[in-house]
Amino acid sequence: MTRSVTVRAPGKVNLQLSVGPVQVDGYHPLATVFQAVDLYETVTATPREDDAIVLTVGAARGADVDLTAVPLDATNIAARAALALREAFGVSEGVDLDIVKGVPVAGGMAGGSADAAATLLACAEVWDLGVSRAQLDEIAAGLGADVPFVLHGHTAVGLGRGDDITPAMSRGRFHWVLATQAQGLSTAEVYREFDRMVADGEREAATPAISDAIMVALVAGNAEALGDALVNDLQPAALSLAPHLQSVMDAALEADALGVMVSGSGPTVAALARSRQHALAIAAHLTVSDTADAVVAASGPAPGAVLVT
Ligand code: ATP
Repeated sequence: MTRSVTVRAPGKVNLQLSVGPVQVDGYHPLATVFQAVDLYETVTATPREDDAIVLTVGAARGADVDLTAVPLDATNIAARAALALREAFGVSEGVDLDIVKGVPVAGGMAGGSADAAATLLACAEVWDLGVSRAQLDEIAAGLGADVPFVLHGHTAVGLGRGDDITPAMSRGRFHWVLATQAQGLSTAEVYREFDRMVADGEREAATPAISDAIMVALVAGNAEALGDALVNDLQPAALSLAPHLQSVMDAALEADALGVMVSGSGPTVAALARSRQHALAIAAHLTVSDTADAVVAASGPAPGAVLVT
């Protein structure tokens, strides 16, 4: 009997993204605090008679997501996830993966990573692998630095390359407005610009450490304190490559956002609001300002990858 399994996994914002100097292996040491938000990717895995891995992709209802940059071949991170799981467990079957995207593409919000996390869980289920969480974590880390976090969700500290995850205490809900751009930014290019700025003395890159101010604000559920403490070391590099993002940030501040930053490697701009109502007011102001291509309100923390069927 053909049985489909559907798994949902969240996008994320980085409340802190502190980046150290590039290492000889080309990676940057990170100290980051992730928060999963309630924008979701959904992956439905259906076993196949043959050994092919076949992808289809669509946009979630109501989501303004541009699918043109999403590959449907073996370079798609969901296909890579299915293949990695298959190799690790000696599986020979193929799978159809139907991806429904609710997270902006190339927006610095880990949409592809969420597809990978959802695929791992869905394929483990359809292939009946009895995989432990630790085994999934290991495969997840091999796929990308954000994959382990979106597998777990909620709020977490990420060290190392961001994939060494520890859950963080957090109280209450935080309300976000996410302003996205049709033209994405390549994470690799943003890091290259970061390296150039450090080499040219325009920026310093210190050994990264987790911010006490952020941890205290999270435990207290204090959105104002969190807004003041948001930090993203990649923001200057993202602004250097995409200077128009400054006008998005300015517009969010005009609407009294508690804090505004480029999300991860951008170009999505994340603004923190006092309440859901305030988030909708900021979203309306951003829409009128015509500085972003799409604006969406979201809240966090959200759960990690979960089976929905
Ligand atoms: P992160 O925040 O983890 O750095 P991101 O959210 O900025 O990632 P993604 O949406 O994950 O960016 O995609 C980045 C690029 O990866 C896309 O431009 C696309 O070419 C490629 N890609 C591969 N697989 C996927 C996928 N499943 N969904 C979206 N993009 C994918």
